[in-house]
Amino acid sequence: MQPSLTMTANQADLLARHLFPDDGCEAVALLLCGRRAGADRHRLLVRRIVPIPYAECSERKPDLVTWPTRYVDALLEEASRHDLAIVKIHGHRGYDRFSETDDLSDRSLFPGIAALTENDIHGSAIMMDDGRVFGRLVCPDGEFLPFSHVAVIGDDLKFYRGSGAKAVEPFGQRIAQSFGAGTYRQLRELRIAVIGCSGTGSLVIEQLARNCVGVLILVDPDHIEPKNLNRIVNSRADHAAAAAPKVDVQAQAIAAMGLGTTVETYCADLFDPDVVRAIAECDVVFGCMDSVDGRHLLNKLATFYLLPYFDLGVKLEADGEGGVDQVCGTVHYIQPGGSSLLSRHVYTAEQVRAAGLYRTDRAAYKAQLGLGYIRGVAEDRPAVIQLNALIASLAINELLARLHPYRLDPNSEYAIHRISLSHGIYEHLEDGPACAALARHIGRGDVAPLLDWAELSETEKAA
Ligand SMILES: [Zn+2]
Repeated sequence: MQPSLTMTANQADLLARHLFPDDGCEAVALLLCGRRAGADRHRLLVRRIVPIPYAECSERKPDLVTWPTRYVDALLEEASRHDLAIVKIHGHRGYDRFSETDDLSDRSLFPGIAALTENDIHGSAIMMDDGRVFGRLVCPDGEFLPFSHVAVIGDDLKFYRGSGAKAVEPFGQRIAQSFGAGTYRQLRELRIAVIGCSGTGSLVIEQLARNCVGVLILVDPDHIEPKNLNRIVNSRADHAAAAAPKVDVQAQAIAAMGLGTTVETYCADLFDPDVVRAIAECDVVFGCMDSVDGRHLLNKLATFYLLPYFDLGVKLEADGEGGVDQVCGTVHYIQPGGSSLLSRHVYTAEQVRAAGLYRTDRAAYKAQLGLGYIRGVAEDRPAVIQLNALIASLAINELLARLHPYRLDPNSEYAIHRISLSHGIYEHLEDGPACAALARHIGRGDVAPLLDWAELSETEKAA
């Protein structure tokens, strides 16, 4: 089991201000964390920060801090009720490891927390004065299990990993030449989910795999049809004849590349608890689908599980007889705690409801549509590979620019890319105000039902 810690850039800024005060002495804070308790990975997700006031510490020196543990006691009930983890974090200047004093204090603090919360998985972390963060689980028997990485998700994407770097494989040399061996290794370690393996999705997958991403989780319930062959990369006539699952076609293509990417496939709907859990175990998510309710679910998932979310949209408006009105596309970068697709007015709450009805109860949807209560859901839109490829490439470049900032302007100015080929427009926009509807879900992690979404309730399954 691989433990890790993830926080937003805002949370990291808040911590840095508290942990490195002007007096130069050490300080400490507690992190209340949601979890994605997976089989392979155990992600701790910062939900709330509790800074221990300097004046409450009995002793503070440049290399030592003694603080009252009643601040832990105050969190135990909440942690126990919501199965949250408690992570202690303190600051080090220059000294990039746990000291013997840290070991002693962790071994005395955590067994009690484990006993009182009835969960063994809690941790201890250190933030360095240069912003790096590392940490470990502290097991009740006194063993330490280092975090595989600490992620800070903001305009830039930071994944702090321990040493033990592997050599760059021959097929990775051009990537390492472009972005450096460090970024290549980051790509190698990333676990990325792609939802939708059709027009834009297949091109996103192709580029992620050729950028040597370590693990790809592919989700799509559909099968290849002849009408897909004009734009799904790696699809063939024999796939259409056999109605091969779209996820399988991509998985086979990636395996044939031989670049060492591991693939997990879900030939399933996004509204499936197993699929939600698999995505929540990732580091990054790409949404490559049309459905409004699917996009809304992903945005919510990204908030609960602190995932950076790249949303791709293409629009080709044509009259079906050769008349083309509009050819455009967008890439949205959504970060937890920032604005959302909803607050950016990509869709409305009413459209989310209509799309949900369309998916789950087609008769009710038609009735409501007939009565004029809802607006129709777009079906079977025109699509071409050259537009999909443009938007897919823009999204992959966006990921790279956030892992390895290289633009003249800061990444904060690229929350939205918008291209219109028909109107000759390319623009990039900065993020708007935080989404009030999603802010309260930051870092909640696993809850029942998942994402507070009634449709993901598992009571039936358990019965
Ligand atoms: Zn220390």
